Amino acid sequence: SDIGSQKDRVLSEEEWLKKWEMGNIGFHKEHGHPLLQKYLDVLLNGRSGLRIFFPLCGKAVEMKWLADMGHSVVGVEISEQALKEFFVEQNLSYCEEPVPEISGAKKLQSTSGNISLYCCSIYDLSSSIVGKFDGVWDRGALVAVNPCDRQRYGSLMITLMEKNSSYLLVTVSYDPNKHKGPPFYVPESEIRSLFG
Ligand code: SAH
Repeated sequence: SDIGSQKDRVLSEEEWLKKWEMGNIGFHKEHGHPLLQKYLDVLLNGRSGLRIFFPLCGKAVEMKWLADMGHSVVGVEISEQALKEFFVEQNLSYCEEPVPEISGAKKLQSTSGNISLYCCSIYDLSSSIVGKFDGVWDRGALVAVNPCDRQRYGSLMITLMEKNSSYLLVTVSYDPNKHKGPPFYVPESEIRSLFG
């Protein structure tokens, strides 16, 4: 298959945590992603005060952009270090609280209340915990999901979307036999089968 040797590869949670500890985070874009600016109108579709979800959020600066535009942002990330770096680097004060429904999970929330970041695995979330979203910014998320978990990820994302939501997805097109990442190749046919 054109997915080559990537199909069975797995990145464990420990490996991701290690990347954050080592500062091995080449995926982080300090100045944000130009494609969000380009397709912002598609995401918002003239609406204001939206709930926007950032799966596998890292310390994406776009969370601050959207919050500053008056939207409310929810993210999920396994690395607590990433989330703390987000608040510190964006000069936002925050408070922490446990998430009663998820053992060991924490919610870090900006003092202003419009950015809530869950420190846990995305697979621990459900719409009864985080509600549903009007928009999704998926950059470095589906492509970071282990290929064996894609179906689960796709189904979960669908359950987290409101009826009229917009989903912006960034993938990278390349020859997976020549390049190792970033970090997994997602063929367009698979996107169609996951999201219909
Ligand atoms: N979307 C961000 C980060 C992309 S890198 C950006 O655009 O910069 C992928 C991130 O997913 C990493 O920070 C990693 O720690 C996190 N991650 C990996 N598996 C996860 C999981 N199961 N649940 C939540 N976060 C996860």
